[in-house]
Amino acid sequence: MEMNESVPLAPYTTFKIGGPARYFCDIHSLNEIKEAVAFAREKHLPTFILGGGSNVLISDSGFDGVVLHIVLSGIEWEEEGDTIFATAGAGVVWDELVRESVERGYWGLENLSHIPGSVGASAVQNIGCYGVEACEAIEWVEEYDTENDLVRRVFPHDCAFGYRDSVWKHDRKGVRVITRVRFRLAKNGSPKTDYKDLREYFSDKTIIHPTQQEVRDALFTIRSQKLPDLARYGTAGSFFKNPVVTTEEAVQFLKRFPEALHFSSGGNEIKLSAPWIIDHVLNLRGIRKGNVGTWGKQALVLVNYGGASAEEIKTLAHEIQFRAHELTNIALSPEVVFIGSES
Ligand SMILES: Cc1cc2nc3c(=O)[nH]c(=O)nc-3n(C[C@H](O)[C@H](O)[C@H](O)COP(=O)(O)OP(=O)(O)OC[C@H]3O[C@@H](n4cnc5c(N)ncnc54)[C@H](O)[C@@H]3O)c2cc1C
Repeated sequence: MEMNESVPLAPYTTFKIGGPARYFCDIHSLNEIKEAVAFAREKHLPTFILGGGSNVLISDSGFDGVVLHIVLSGIEWEEEGDTIFATAGAGVVWDELVRESVERGYWGLENLSHIPGSVGASAVQNIGCYGVEACEAIEWVEEYDTENDLVRRVFPHDCAFGYRDSVWKHDRKGVRVITRVRFRLAKNGSPKTDYKDLREYFSDKTIIHPTQQEVRDALFTIRSQKLPDLARYGTAGSFFKNPVVTTEEAVQFLKRFPEALHFSSGGNEIKLSAPWIIDHVLNLRGIRKGNVGTWGKQALVLVNYGGASAEEIKTLAHEIQFRAHELTNIALSPEVVFIGSES
């Protein structure tokens, strides 16, 4: 394991923001995790697990500890009748796994095409879009418990998967390092195109039964129309989660904003649309303040237009949260993870 000192973190994030890590190492194996954790313990420093850096905002002063940059690689494919198991290293680029599964003609991950980040974080975040969440395909997650020096497989019933949520965001966060994830895919399947954007895309093209590759191509078009180009702008995608409220809270909210977008979230819960609130109530879609702003085609996306600091992003995020609460009584919580001392 090669431990480096004072490594700038901005290039390792899609926000392109963040000061240096006091120590930084690439993790290629379980042994390297053990070595890095032992190093941090010896120096009495905290650790941070970094994947593709597409869901983090790192403070301007950086991280005063040891960053474990997970690059655990490799995908194994196994066939059992109609079922295909893909077991991928936590550092595999998520969209490489999706691309390969689609090219091999397997069903299950195509709706999750073009999401940045790593396989490990796909389980942490339970990534989702266009009607599908990663947890629907996860067979098990392998983790290394750094406190108890144990490798174990965690099955979905113990993963506490929820909307952009899992056990790795709560239970001894940062202590459990995901090393591999196994996905269950199918040789035979059918497209999931119920989600509005996909339905509209295919009805325009009069495609009734799209292939996995056609779904993937559709998502490339749909996503590039809505999201900033990462080669030009810094962003971590949706900055806030859609607020999930009780039916009673939703009724109060909808009395005041009858035209607001909302969706059933199961049970006694309703999911409100954070971008709708930011756009229609706060009137903050497409605004720019200095080097930061909200994206004109998707108000939930905060953007670094170039040279922005973490403080500028946080100030804008706080203003959005404050105004949302003031005007709607709804609390917006960040989807993005804050790292570093002044966060
Ligand atoms: C343009 C853009 C579009 C996006 N679109 C979507 C979308 O459609 N749907 C969606 O759900 N998300 C989306 N995202 C958010 C992001 O891509 C996902 O959250 C992704 O899973 C983050 O992966 P990462 O490897 O970059 O994680 P990082 O940002 O590196 O880390 C995120 C969190 O996971 C933890 N973590 C990372 N790897 C491990 C590991 N191996 N073990 C334990 N903990 C770990 C980190 O400590 C951190 O807390 C988008 C982001 C961008 C920039």
